Amino acid sequence: MTEPLDVARLRAEVPALSREVHGHRVTYLDHAATAPTPQVVLQAVAQAYGPLNANVQRGVHTMSAEASAAYAAARSKVARFLHTDPVQIVFTRGTTEALNLAAHGIAATRLRPRSRVLVSRQTHHAGLVPWQLMGAPRGAHVEALPCTPTGQLDLDATERALRAGHVAAVCVPVASNVLGTYTPVRELAELAHDVGAVMVADAAQAAPHSPLDVGALGVDVLAFSGHKVFGPTGIGVLWARRSLLEKWPPWQGGGDMVQRVRFEGSTFREPPHRFEAGTPPIAQALGLHAALDWLENIGWKAIQARERVVRDGLWQRLRQVPGLTLLPGPADLPMASFTLGRHHPHDVGSLLDQLGVAVRTGRHCADPLHTLLGLDSTVRASASFLTTDAELDRLVAGLSHVREVLGAP
Ligand code: PMP
Repeated sequence: MTEPLDVARLRAEVPALSREVHGHRVTYLDHAATAPTPQVVLQAVAQAYGPLNANVQRGVHTMSAEASAAYAAARSKVARFLHTDPVQIVFTRGTTEALNLAAHGIAATRLRPRSRVLVSRQTHHAGLVPWQLMGAPRGAHVEALPCTPTGQLDLDATERALRAGHVAAVCVPVASNVLGTYTPVRELAELAHDVGAVMVADAAQAAPHSPLDVGALGVDVLAFSGHKVFGPTGIGVLWARRSLLEKWPPWQGGGDMVQRVRFEGSTFREPPHRFEAGTPPIAQALGLHAALDWLENIGWKAIQARERVVRDGLWQRLRQVPGLTLLPGPADLPMASFTLGRHHPHDVGSLLDQLGVAVRTGRHCADPLHTLLGLDSTVRASASFLTTDAELDRLVAGLSHVREVLGAP
């Protein structure tokens, strides 16, 4: 039996959760946008700008050596989180930059006229737009992966689409940032590999809820963001198979990524350094290390058990709100997106904010999914293991208030 989490104790370690908004204790239900930062991460960042304040991988002095060791340790920590080794971990600015780097490398080595890149309709814009930018100049096409009317992958139709030929890459979110459902990544990766395509996985929403095993997922490339796993903003992770990283050309030039620099031309270091030009996000890497340690110390089993309870509590409560329509689910993650009759999501979100309830409204950087579902915008409530039952009740009370102010939906 997994010990239940001491949620109150953990919440006390996360300063943002005890602030007030419009005179109310905040009810933070926007974890999928960014997770609130625990004290240990703030301390790690302070340490990086305090005693460890030095540039890394340059120079022989003690402070630089210590900062370099801490930066390398952060890379090793991320590698363990993904069940891989550190030479395949590239630090980036976030998932967005990681996916752009992957699209750059794949475009340079595999995209040519008539190449096809197949992308899930559930994709965040960061999983689609880079392919459009990199594909268009090379005459490659970006297409939607076949899906059901509710946006879930249609594996049979996908197999046919893949067998139609010329597929260079397939890109999907491991979990949707709108529906909170998982994509059958392993099955899809097998199909993609059968036709020689590279499988790219956007784990921005999956990583906060589970350690990931890139080998078990069967993917070739995977990305996630520090700030969604309770780490700092300004850092993300790109993992790619070494055989790919070795072929990809550099994408940014500058210090630290080079071996020799001459006016006649330069030579480049081995991955991952070849892809980290300039001073890297040192403090952010140390913060990410602390965040992953924090989650591990809390215990992933306990986190997942609590998040299942939160998810069920969220869905049960929302199902009972009159006039509320949930987007297709049920979700695997502790989140739900919905509309409230004819009321505009922005009005719903603004009225909830007046009560201190923070939710996301809009299209959540997922235009294609909203278009498929025939929706202009939605409200998204995204929780975590830190969410209490009382907070879920406050969301529902807030929605009753919205109905009082705006009228029955
Ligand atoms: N992909 C998904 C599925 C996301 O949810 C997000 C963040 N909303 C991103 C990519 C982009 O992450 P970031 O803004 O941290 O680069």
